[in-house]
Amino acid sequence: MRSVDTVAELRSTLAAYRRADARIGLVPTMGALHAGHMSLIARAREQCDVVVVSLFVNPTQFNEQADLARYPRDLERDSQMAAGAGADILFAPPVKEVYPPGFSSEVRVSGITERLEGTQRGPEHFNGVSTVVCKLFGMVGPDVAYFGQKDAQQVLVIRHLVEDLNIPVRIEMCPTVRERDGLALSSRNMHLSASERQQALGLYAALSAAGSAVSQGRRDHGELLAAATTELERRQIQPEYLELVDLQTLEPLQRLDRSALLAIAARIGATRLIDNVILTPTPTPQPSEREATTTCSA
Ligand code: AMP
Repeated sequence: MRSVDTVAELRSTLAAYRRADARIGLVPTMGALHAGHMSLIARAREQCDVVVVSLFVNPTQFNEQADLARYPRDLERDSQMAAGAGADILFAPPVKEVYPPGFSSEVRVSGITERLEGTQRGPEHFNGVSTVVCKLFGMVGPDVAYFGQKDAQQVLVIRHLVEDLNIPVRIEMCPTVRERDGLALSSRNMHLSASERQQALGLYAALSAAGSAVSQGRRDHGELLAAATTELERRQIQPEYLELVDLQTLEPLQRLDRSALLAIAARIGATRLIDNVILTPTPTPQPSEREATTTCSA
C-alpha cells in the first residue's frame, strides 16, 4: 500500500491506473478504523481494481469542539489496518492541504439535511460533510464510493449531491457491522466506560424491539415507537430523536406501509451515538395461508 498526503501525489499515483482504465474505489473515513470500515474496504476490494482509503478528521463537520479534540487519531495503526484490508492507496492529508488559506467554498444540500442529525447538530454538520466529500470526489475521481448504512442520512445526502451536481460516481451503501451483542461499531465506542457500554446496548435493543413488533404485524408508528421506547426506558436512555421516516425523503411516517428507516441518536454519558435499521412490512401470513403452506410442504 502506498501512503500519500498531498493531492498532487495522489493524482500522479492514480494517473497510471486511470490510463489503464482501472475501476477506482474510494472509502472515505475519519480514521480510528474498525471492522465497519474494514467491511467497506473489503467491498471496494471485491469490486474495484484500485482501492483508495482516505483518512481525514474533517474539522468543518464537527459541531462540538470537544468532540473534535478527543476524536481518536492513530495513523500508524490505521495504515496497518487499511493495508491489511486490501487498500492500495492511503490518502491522509493534513488540514491545510484540504483547506488551504483562502478556501471559501461550501456545498450545501437542503431539505433532507434539516431532519434527524440536522436538527441536533445544526446545518454546519452536513455542509461540512458535503463539502469534504465533494472535494474527495474531485481529488480521487472514483468510479464507486463506499459508505456505511450506520450513517444512513449521510448516504442520502451524498446521493443527492452527486445527482444534483452530476458527479459521475456510484454510491454504494454497505450494511452496519455490529459487535456480537448488537452494538454498532463506532470510533466513538472507545470513549464508553464498561457500564456505559452496557447502557449503549439499549439503542440496538430498541431498534430490534420495533423490528419484532413489525414481525408481529404491527404497522402503526406509535406502536413501533412504543416498543422501542420500552427498551430505552429499561436502560434509562432518553433519545435525542427516535423516528420512523421515509427512506428517501426522511419525512416522518405514520404507518409502515413501505420500507422505512427507524433512526435513533442518544447520549450515553458524554458520548453521542447513532444507529438505525430499515424496517420492511413483509405481509404476515393469515392462519388459512399458514395451513395451506404447511399442507403443501408436508
Ligand atoms: P467515519 O470514519 O466514522 O467517518 O466512517 C467512515 C465510513 O465508515 C462511513 O461511511 C460510515 O458510515 C462507515 N461506518 C462507520 N461505522 C460503521 C459500521 N459499524 N458498519 C459499517 N460502516 C460503518
